[in-house]
Amino acid sequence: MMIVDPIKNILKRGAESAKFKYSLIISAIGMVHVCLVALFSFLQVLPMVLINIGSVTTYIICLVVIRQDGDMRGVFYATYLEIIVQSFAATICIGWRFGFPQYVIALVPFGYYMCHALIEDKRRYTIATILGLIAFGSFVSCRLLSVFFGPVYQLDIPEAVELGVYIFNTFCNFGFLFMVTAIFLVEMQTATNQLQKQNAILDTMANVDPLTGLYNRRSMHNFLSDAQDSQEEAPFCLVMCDIDYFKKINDTYGHDAGDLVLREVARMAREHVGQQGHACRWGGEEMLLIIRGDVEQARRIAEDIRQEVSSFAFGVKGQTIHCSITIGVALHQGGNTIDHTITHADDNLYYGKRNGKNRVVSDLELRAG
Ligand code: GH3
Ligand code: MG
Ligand code: MG
Repeated sequence: MMIVDPIKNILKRGAESAKFKYSLIISAIGMVHVCLVALFSFLQVLPMVLINIGSVTTYIICLVVIRQDGDMRGVFYATYLEIIVQSFAATICIGWRFGFPQYVIALVPFGYYMCHALIEDKRRYTIATILGLIAFGSFVSCRLLSVFFGPVYQLDIPEAVELGVYIFNTFCNFGFLFMVTAIFLVEMQTATNQLQKQNAILDTMANVDPLTGLYNRRSMHNFLSDAQDSQEEAPFCLVMCDIDYFKKINDTYGHDAGDLVLREVARMAREHVGQQGHACRWGGEEMLLIIRGDVEQARRIAEDIRQEVSSFAFGVKGQTIHCSITIGVALHQGGNTIDHTITHADDNLYYGKRNGKNRVVSDLELRAG
């Protein structure tokens, strides 16, 4: 919408930059006082004209302080005091009926917000509460003052003007409350979004191996226990993979080249497993895969991985490296522990290592001899 978007942008900018936000609040309050200078000039209440000129000057100084990264707490306390003084002065000069003391009510949420934003001390809410009570006391005192002492200026003005001034004050006061609330909500939302992003990063760091991008051993244990819980409806296989002659790759081409090969092989394993299960870095250059389905299905995926690894040309510092992988497949059978099935997959893998490497070994191959 035409009006909502610019307001959203202003609030977003306010959430990103404290300087912008405080300048916005202080400018808004300052503008109200510029209007009040005009109003009191029209009503010919000289003390209030002077007081409001003083207020405008105060807010100009506050804006300079904000611009120069000065003490924001000073700006806050000056604003708080100014609004209270203004309420008393207006009540004494022209009475209660114009609605000036209502600004004091808005000081309560404003005070809590500013104390929260500016004071790091754990006493900040105590300070905000004390300030709120001072605002409350000021509001009641203005009312009592207006009962016991009539206004100094007995204005003889039409009722419509009186109502107009009252509505102006109410409008400004509500505008201020809406602004402070909106800023608070946008800030809260921004902080929540940041927290969610950081949580996602931490979650990834806790569950994913940084070199290969595969799940780490810790998170694989969670997948293994989930798979075991639902094994009756969804049988699964464990597949252990180990790159052949990997030490030689490190020794010949360097550790960085080894890392590159490891990353590429991990990517292939992850892509071939896809939605059929999960792939994790079990340790060193060993990967453990959970693949949902029977031995035949797991064997097919393992064979696809093996073929891609053996046919892939790994480019390292302008050279081309070839390597292979040996894979052991074992069906998890009800009644067995996960450790037992891992050992079974490992045994099949080492059978493959002893019998020429670059092959997939499951019980099907063993039976066939
Ligand atoms: P085999 O064919 O029997 O598997 O022989 P291999 O040389 O691959 O022997 P093994 O599997 O025991 O080798 C593991 C080697 O992997 C030893 C270690 O230096 C290397 N390695 C383990 N982790 C990393 C890693 O993160 N990066 C690199 N570059 N090398 C690693
Ligand atoms: Mg190896
Ligand atoms: Mg190994």
